Amino acid sequence: MTVARILAVKGRDVFTTQPHRTLQETARLLASKGIGAVVVTGADGQVLGIISERDIVRALAEGGAPALDDAVSSHMTSEVFTASSSTCIHDIMERMTHSRFRHVPVVEGERLAGLISIGDVVKHRIAEIETEHRALREYIATA
Ligand code: AMP
Repeated sequence: MTVARILAVKGRDVFTTQPHRTLQETARLLASKGIGAVVVTGADGQVLGIISERDIVRALAEGGAPALDDAVSSHMTSEVFTASSSTCIHDIMERMTHSRFRHVPVVEGERLAGLISIGDVVKHRIAEIETEHRALREYIATA
């Protein structure tokens, strides 16, 4: 199964922030949308980084409450692993497990085209396993 299949169901909207925004603004965005990470984009919409709740927690642990005024650019991850619509979900699952992150932006050309979270991957993997399970039961019942 590919990324395109998941995006067809969940949609392609991605919440973004900009490098000059503060951690406080980003934390508010994460809380209000009920999400764990936002993609950091530049003026042309290009992906500059990603910042997740873990980055904010780390900044607070190191700098205390004043860190909430820091710019997103100081705490985001700049080397972002991205996928394309044709990337296989299994490859994303492997990379998430190996590199210990839970969000993968989808990029087409230079443009942001969606975001796959670990929740999306797990949901689709469960659906896949249930389909296989049903097929096996039907096969056994008719054998
Ligand atoms: P997460 O598990 O997504 O909350 O992220 C854990 C850490 O990995 C944070 O430092 C994020 O900035 C970073 N991170 C999240 N997603 C990615 C990604 N796709 N590529 C590189 N780093 C990421």
